[in-house]
Order: sequence, then structure tokens, then C-alpha cells
Amino acid sequence: MTAQTQPSDASLTRMRNYVERYRQKSGTSPHPNPDVTDAVVFGLASNVDEFGRPLCPCNYYPDKQAEVDASRRWFCACDEMKGYKYCHCLLLVTREGEPI
Ligand code: SF4
Repeated sequence: MTAQTQPSDASLTRMRNYVERYRQKSGTSPHPNPDVTDAVVFGLASNVDEFGRPLCPCNYYPDKQAEVDASRRWFCACDEMKGYKYCHCLLLVTREGEPI
């Protein structure tokens, strides 16, 4: 994950609420270490503030704006999550806290 600026409270709240709703919808669970969730939500919220979209914070993008403009595939929940229930950020895991 790259360094992120401190996100706004509004974006943090928006992303926390989104993640909670998406977990319920997808039958996934939070990571047992809350620091993992906090770091990913922080990154998502920073990207919402900077780019207006919840770009996945766990990837490297040579040009984030270009990625945002190119497609929605890495907007949370990303295509991998929607298609395979796989979250490489470990934001969404099994009840046992394992990757899906
Ligand atoms: Fe969201 Fe996908 Fe990133 Fe997981 S891997 S945090 S589902 S965008």
C-alpha cells in the first residue's frame, strides 16, 4: 500500500458503512485484526477524497487518475471480489479470518 493522506471523516464514515453493508450482502467477515480493516478503509477513504472513487488501496497504479478514468474494475468491491469472492486486501475474509 502506498502512503495516503488523512481522509475526511465523511469519507471514512461512508467507507465503513459501505464495508459493513457489503459484508452482510456477501456473507464475508471482518479480519480478526482490526488494524487490517482500519488500514484498508483508510486507504479507500483517501482515494474517495482524492479521486471521487473507492479505488482499491492495495494495488500499485503507475497513474491513479488514469486507472480511475480507465475502468471501474478496482473500485471496491472490485471485479475479483464480485466474481470470485477474493479480496486480496483481506478486508473481507471468511468467518475464520482466512482469505476467501
Ligand atoms: Fe475492495 Fe477488492 Fe480491494 Fe478487497 S481487493 S478492498 S474487495 S477493492
